[in-house]
Amino acid sequence: CGVFGVIGVTDAANFVALGLHALQHRGQEAGGIVSYSPDIGFNSARRFGYVRDNFTKASLMETLPGSLSIGHVRYSTAGSKGQTQIRDVQPFFGEFSMGGAAIAHNGNITNADSLRKELIERGSIFQSSSDSECIIHLMARSLQQNIPERMKDALRRVEGAFSVVAMTRTKLIGVRDPLGVRPLVLGRIGDGWVLSSETCALDIIGAEFVREVEPGEMLVITEKGGIESFHPFERTRPRFCIFEHVYFSRPDSILGGRSVYETRRQIGVELAKENPVDADLVCPVPDSGTPAAIGFSQESGIPYAMGIIRNQYMGRTFIEPTEQIRNMGVRLKLNVNRALIKGKRVILVDDSVVRGTTSMKIKQMILDAGAAEVHFRIASPPTAWPCFYGVDTPEREKLLASHMSEDEMCAHLGVDSLKFISLDGLYRAAGEAEGRNPDAPQYCDACFSGEYPVAPSDMIAKGFEV
Ligand code: 5GP
Ligand code: SF4
Ligand code: MG
Repeated sequence: CGVFGVIGVTDAANFVALGLHALQHRGQEAGGIVSYSPDIGFNSARRFGYVRDNFTKASLMETLPGSLSIGHVRYSTAGSKGQTQIRDVQPFFGEFSMGGAAIAHNGNITNADSLRKELIERGSIFQSSSDSECIIHLMARSLQQNIPERMKDALRRVEGAFSVVAMTRTKLIGVRDPLGVRPLVLGRIGDGWVLSSETCALDIIGAEFVREVEPGEMLVITEKGGIESFHPFERTRPRFCIFEHVYFSRPDSILGGRSVYETRRQIGVELAKENPVDADLVCPVPDSGTPAAIGFSQESGIPYAMGIIRNQYMGRTFIEPTEQIRNMGVRLKLNVNRALIKGKRVILVDDSVVRGTTSMKIKQMILDAGAAEVHFRIASPPTAWPCFYGVDTPEREKLLASHMSEDEMCAHLGVDSLKFISLDGLYRAAGEAEGRNPDAPQYCDACFSGEYPVAPSDMIAKGFEV
């Protein structure tokens, strides 16, 4: 998901709509915006589909006045699978004795099932199936006298990954979980402040990047421009999601002081060093494989070419939640450039292999177009474990790498070769010159290593073995 918030500018919701549009890659199912103005109070709009199709309408935006606003773009990882229900679309809103608050959450709460059960037993009435709603109910039960303090209480009970953007009548609040798994940055626009999942959404509104919200930090920002920083959690070594660098974030964003594009290009360089192969062309699987393919080509000297053309009017395939749509999606989205491919030995660079659906279809399309050889080079290590921190991966059995070795996957896909970047190579590309520190890994890499930095307690209760 993507979160965005603005305080201290006129018609803040318009800026939020633009910010969410720049974060659309983080979630395409639905979006929501809440604003506050002293005259009318809180207002919200939650809609299915793209930001640009909903939050550009003057008639809708006029209902969201005020200089304080937050928003969310959704992609479902927890709660209702399949068809998103409007009740699961954020921001969520709660009315407390000291006023209302709205919250937007990116990440996944790994103890949400047990929290929900406890809260329902104690009288909470849940409106949605979303894990994020727990935060509102925990806040409602807190005895603290102001909303930021209630939020601290609530979030101290929550396990897992959260980057939260919240608002009261007068405050914009941003929080990251102690490990800082999901991103969150602070920006400045005129006299106002901005919170955003990624820096690319600051750029779109002409806001200036100030700094990242630190792992475990809570920022409380008021209209007058005051900004307070708290550290409500026990300090721990951060473990940012390395897959944000590989796939999830936009390449024009800066994460942890590093250009995402440059990290991806460097992954391609490392891949070419680790797994060279003689071929005629390096082609990305667009768009997610593009920067790594550029790096692979630069390092290997093999020409870069667009062997697969992407229809720009389709979204990200993986993010479509049902299997059927996903299967269609590959063909609807990608087509082979036949004239280029015929008779060529082709290296295909993609960011990841999850179920293998994409790779299988693309291999077939490339062979049908008359390629002489197909070599896959993958910009992440084999995805052998599900993510429980806010990236939607299927259950373990559906992950190709959970039950197949690299060679078996190669045979299964029927390609001439298939190689993945090593975990160390990935860390080097992400700026860790010495590679992964096995005693104290610098990132979360659980989907590759199976080492979960936060025990996924709901899943363990359901029998998941870590
Ligand atoms: P597969 O087709 O192997 O199941 O999925 C891999 C493809 O899904 C890649 O092309 C990748 O770009 C795309 N993808 C989209 N979203 C995600 C995600 O959240 N996780 C992973 N691992 N891949 C994703
Ligand atoms: Fe990111 Fe993978 Fe960790 Fe999930 S398990 S937070 S995708 S590195
Ligand atoms: Mg892809």
